[in-house]
Amino acid sequence: MRAMVLEEPRPAEEHPLLQRDLPLPAPGRGEIRVRVRACGVCHTDLHTVEGEIALPKLPVVPGHQVAGVVEARGAGADRFREGDRVGVPWLYWTCGACRFCVDGRENLCDAPRFTGLGADGGYAEAMVVPEGFAHTLPASFPDSGVAPLLCAGVIGYRALRLSEIRPGGRLGLYGFGASAHIVIQIARYWGCEVDVFSRAASHLELARRLGAAWTGRAEETPPAPLDAAIIFAPAGRLVAEALRVVRKGGVVALAGITMSPIPQLDYRLLYHERTLRSVANSTRRDVRELLELAAAVPLRAEVETFPLDQANQALIALKESRIKGAGVLVP
Ligand SMILES: [Zn+2]
Ligand SMILES: [Zn+2]
Repeated sequence: MRAMVLEEPRPAEEHPLLQRDLPLPAPGRGEIRVRVRACGVCHTDLHTVEGEIALPKLPVVPGHQVAGVVEARGAGADRFREGDRVGVPWLYWTCGACRFCVDGRENLCDAPRFTGLGADGGYAEAMVVPEGFAHTLPASFPDSGVAPLLCAGVIGYRALRLSEIRPGGRLGLYGFGASAHIVIQIARYWGCEVDVFSRAASHLELARRLGAAWTGRAEETPPAPLDAAIIFAPAGRLVAEALRVVRKGGVVALAGITMSPIPQLDYRLLYHERTLRSVANSTRRDVRELLELAAAVPLRAEVETFPLDQANQALIALKESRIKGAGVLVP
């Protein structure tokens, strides 16, 4: 099968992903092999190929927003049948035994494996996954439309929950890529006012089209204080900007897996019980809830598709904020 493989991390401009012909992976006990129909391109993939996060496995096939079809089952795998449509998100496997797994916070598992990082992912024609970590996809979505929901949508949804925003509240979004453009649809569905901060004019235009109440740059001040803010852009300097415009008792949630250093903060920005918190991974329950919400709203991912062998180009476009909505690879 064709796969885009990372053997050694390098800047995206140097095309770190190499096209390789790999043997079709055989599903082990409790695993299924998924024929990949679409795989979303995530900021985490960019951090992976550029080596900005620790890489437990090399070479590795990135990609953790997979929509596909079950084509083979290993011993004891009986949850799905051949031909069933499934999605594979970031959470590939958890231990099920650590204190975090036991109390319902498997996103914080002590020994997790992540798709496209600790296990080969969806930048390929096929991949294997433990059946318990695959998800049935809502029938109403095409493959390329549902793929970006599996991380961008799910992590956005978790960030939205952790931001403690209430229906009718005022929410700020910093950075307006794949995740934020889905979050704004959920927040609008909940009756929230949403202010969007970005440097990219095309992203602000998309934000207005999706119902943003106000758009501008992070240094600007929106018309009213925010109840909560979510920072998607991996720029530490945005933390002070968000705290500056969040009301007393408000929450600033950081949705990225990595961020440039957060500059020294004036305590007055945090005082009055403002909360600053990160968002790490997501649980299988988050995925199920987001997929249900996606069908109910209904959520619509703005998608730009690339052929599999253009994965490097897709990552460069993502890095340069040239993708409107979400990038998706189609093998
Ligand atoms: Zn665990
Ligand atoms: Zn992701």
